[in-house]
Parts: sequence; structure tokens; C-alpha cells
Amino acid sequence: MADRTKGRSGGIKTTLDSNKCCEICGVSGVPLVDIILEKQHVFICEDCLNTSFTVYNAFNDTYISRKALDGDFALTAETMPKPKEIKEHLDKHVIGQDAAKITLSVAVYNHYKRVLALREQEKKNKKPLSDTETVELEKSNVLLLGPTGVGKTLLAQSLAKMLNVPFAIADATTLTEAGYVGEDVENILLRLIQAADFDVKKAEMGIIYVDEIDKISRRSENRSITRDVSGEGVQQALLKIIEGTVSNVPPQGGRKHPNQEFIQIDTKNILFICGGAFDGLEAIIEKRMGKQLVGFNSTLSSSKLEKSEVLKEVTTHDLVKYGIIPELVGRIPVITSLEPLNTEAFVKILKEPKNSLFKQYKKLFELDGVELEFTDEAAKIIAEKAYELNTGARGLRAIMERLMQSFMYEVPSDGNIKKLVIDKEQINL
Ligand code: ADP
Repeated sequence: MADRTKGRSGGIKTTLDSNKCCEICGVSGVPLVDIILEKQHVFICEDCLNTSFTVYNAFNDTYISRKALDGDFALTAETMPKPKEIKEHLDKHVIGQDAAKITLSVAVYNHYKRVLALREQEKKNKKPLSDTETVELEKSNVLLLGPTGVGKTLLAQSLAKMLNVPFAIADATTLTEAGYVGEDVENILLRLIQAADFDVKKAEMGIIYVDEIDKISRRSENRSITRDVSGEGVQQALLKIIEGTVSNVPPQGGRKHPNQEFIQIDTKNILFICGGAFDGLEAIIEKRMGKQLVGFNSTLSSSKLEKSEVLKEVTTHDLVKYGIIPELVGRIPVITSLEPLNTEAFVKILKEPKNSLFKQYKKLFELDGVELEFTDEAAKIIAEKAYELNTGARGLRAIMERLMQSFMYEVPSDGNIKKLVIDKEQINL
């Protein structure tokens, strides 16, 4: 290699000085490339230099392609599933709840259609759009009404998984207005950022499920004494991130303090799905409907309708009466209710979803070389036992754990067992 001089940081030339050896592999007596790096001479043999280049280029390629993948959101106008496809996907994971599935599929489709259209526009403009440019389509956050354990969280989670967007769950009862003991609203955003592996752009397109939103209503008796007395402060704090703001999130969570560095996240495109049982809401709806029905059609008595049937008639006015501030109700315009589940639905939940409990236990035993089977009668008894717990489908897991524990203890040590059938005789709970 001929002597030459190149580069900003000094020169690159070859030398055949027998006192010098390659700084990487230690070889001496061969031509070495003498590089001046940071005012220091570094001697490397040609082989090591070539290898370094190859490794560097390979690293760079992967790094660049990973950046491109991560940085650019996978969901596009072309790949965005249509409402019917979304519903079909939800059907694989969630039993029943057709009305809620349809409402959610449409809301989510519209939400991302809007977000993707905005992104396209911003790309063309090469700068974020101003408020006046984005007025046409408002964000449609969703409110899911329904008792515990009927699939509210599962629906939100399944949606996020399908769309491959970051997902976080927040419990409204743990939230506080700044200055009170409890969790700051920003921590919800931190959880979403964590779910996006700290890729803020990705987090800004995520979904947040806010559970038990009914418990922060003005009239709620479950309100913590460590929180503001009216419950309104927490609602105001939540309102801010739901309606869209640029929020400063402390990267370690916990309380903000002035000298801390913050992660800035824009919440305008985050989809909020809120859920709650709203106990007592049906009385408000009935009262309103009862009043409306008087002199109208006196044979139609709203009080005879089942609670879930009554919930279907909810209006934003009823939610305000319940104690949710009007501004917050206004920001969650899509409302749908979920049905309570009966024992037949429980049996389906045990058997049918992709990750059903029966399938999970079968897989677990299969790993020990044992075939596991549940009879229909056993499924029915398990469903009935879970129903008695009054915690929706949540009870199924508790019952199954109790039922299967002794088998999970015995079976792995008994090499003779190749098949295990759980019938009604085996259920002794
Ligand atoms: P909640 O309505 O209280 O948010 P979840 O969605 O958390 O209830 O449900 C609790 C558990 O019960 C879930 O993990 C899921 O396994 C099961 N489950 C509840 N509802 C359904 C349903 N409709 N279909 C399938 N599984 C369900």
C-alpha cells in the first residue's frame, strides 16, 4: 500500500516498522496502516482494517434498517384493517359482546384513518399541522360500560395487539390530582412509552385503557380520602391528556421535580378507551326514560328492562348526572355497553378463544407428555361454579387454578399417566 494522507483527523499511511504491531490482532512484521485518531497514532494490519470495515458496515445496515422500521409506524392506510376485519379478529379472542365489538371496530377504524391521514398531510407539509388545519376530524375516544369480568379490558388489549400499537392499562382509582398521595396522570403515559420501548413516536399512536373511570365521578363513594374531595381534579387531569396535550413525563415515573429531564409526548393521537361498571347509572337512565315515557306509551315500563338493556339507552346527559364532568364526557363520544355473561358464555370462554383456559392447561400438560381432556359436563360445572363468584369470567381462572392444582402436583411425577380426563367426578371444589 502506498503512502497517502487522508481524512480530517490526520493522516493514514502504511508503515513497515518492526517495532510496531497491530493494535487489534497483535501481528508484527507486516505492513501496518498508521491512522491518526484523536492525535494518537494507531497501527492496524490490513486484515483487521478490512474486517473492521465489514463489521462496521454490517452494523450500520442493521442499525439503519432497524431505525427505519422502528421510526416508521407499521400501520399504514393500506394495511389498516377494515371494521369487519377488526370485528372478525375480536371474535377470535372475545366471546359475545357483538354490539360493543361493532362499535369499537368502527371507532378504531375511524380513529386510525384520521391519524394516518394527518400523518400523510404532515409528511407532505414537512411540519406538524396547525389547529386550523386539523379541525375536520375529531378524535373518538370510547367508553365501555359493563360489569366486571365481561371483556372490556380484553377487547382493548386485543385491538392493540391486532394493530400492533403500544398498549397500556391505567386504573383510574389510583390516579390523583398533582399534590395528593397517589399516581400522577403522567405515569399512564410513561407506561405507554415503556410499552413502545421508549419510542415516543410509536407511543403517540398507542391505545390506553382507563379502567374504573366511574370511580372518579363526583358522586362516587369509592373515592379515596387522599384524593381531592370532589373527584373533579382527577377528572380535569385526565381530561387534559385525553383531549390532547404535550405532556412532560418523568422518565423514572413518580413525582415531577424541577431539575428533572422529561420525555415530551403529544397525546393528541392516542386513543383512550375507558371502562367502568357505573353502578346505579341505570336508575338515572330509568328516571329519565320514565319521565319521557309518561303520556307517551304508558304500557312501556322502563323499570322492567334488565339492567344491561337499560344501559344501552345511556346518553351523555346521564353520564353527567352520574358525576362525570361534561368536558370529559364530551371527549369520549363513543359509548357502548357490554352484556353480563351467562354460564353458556362461560363454557365458550373456557373452550373457544385462541388462548382459552382449556387450551392453556392442555398445552401445559402436553409439555409433560400428557393428553388432557375436559368433558362437556365438567365444563358446565366449572362455568356454574365461576358464575356463583359474581366476578364475571374472571372467576373462571380462580376455579380452574383450584381444580387443576392437585393434578399439576401429581401428574408430572407419575410416568404412567399418558391421558387425563377431567369429568364431573374430578371436580371437587
Ligand atoms: P373487564 O370487563 O373487567 O375489563 P376483563 O376483560 O379483564 O374484564 O376480563 C377478565 C378475564 O376474563 C379476561 O382475561 C378474559 O380471559 C376473560 N373474559 C372476560 N370476558 C370475556 C369474553 N367476553 N370473552 C372471552 N374471555 C373473557
